[in-house]
Amino acid sequence: MIAGRWRGEIEQMSVVRTLKVIGLGAVVLTLSVEWLVWLYRRVCPTGLGNRGPLKEVFFFPTEVACTEHVFNPDSLFPCPCPLPHGVETSFSRLLGHIMSASSSLDLCVFAFTNFSLSRAVLALHERGVAIRILTDMDYTLITGSQIGAIRRAGICVRCDCGAVHMHHKFAVLDGRRLITGSLNWTLTAIQSNKENVLVTDEPDLVRPFIAEFQRLWDANDPIKRYPPSVTEIPASLAV
Ligand SMILES: [Zn+2]
Repeated sequence: MIAGRWRGEIEQMSVVRTLKVIGLGAVVLTLSVEWLVWLYRRVCPTGLGNRGPLKEVFFFPTEVACTEHVFNPDSLFPCPCPLPHGVETSFSRLLGHIMSASSSLDLCVFAFTNFSLSRAVLALHERGVAIRILTDMDYTLITGSQIGAIRRAGICVRCDCGAVHMHHKFAVLDGRRLITGSLNWTLTAIQSNKENVLVTDEPDLVRPFIAEFQRLWDANDPIKRYPPSVTEIPASLAV
């Protein structure tokens, strides 16, 4: 009888121990899963294989380095210029983004004197990329302005002649990538000033800039500013 009681107590203890082990295991498993989920969200905030729209920020001034590799990535010959090579800078990354345009570039910039940026725009034009540039009328006349060379190449440029400056500095590439910030397209801004540039494919940010560019482009259509007088209209077209 005593042996039976002992057996019963031992079995009861065994069941309790088993339940404790199962309970502890369940708690450990739950915490482990929660920790793994937390870790996954920290490492991949937008999910595996999908890092979300591009978001990059550059700061200037940038160190001076050769950017020839951006223009000639397939060159077989080393660049002979005296600048440092193989250095990735804010400027080379900015140039790389601009050169990535494949169908269109809409540029709205206050001052444009930088030769390398002008070279990038001309290279895109030669590649068949549709380019529209809107700039401030007063700043097309500053020393070193690239607007004349760009116009001579056949690129369409419109000037804002409003009472206040057209002070924007943004570009939209292929209707889907925005480059914006404080940076004028000048050597001083790139090598001397403290400036920032944001590059993003985030549609909610790109969309308003596309609309603003189009609004300013239409508002500065020369035909609206200088409508042809009646005497300038050929007789054959006169109603
Ligand atoms: Zn070089």
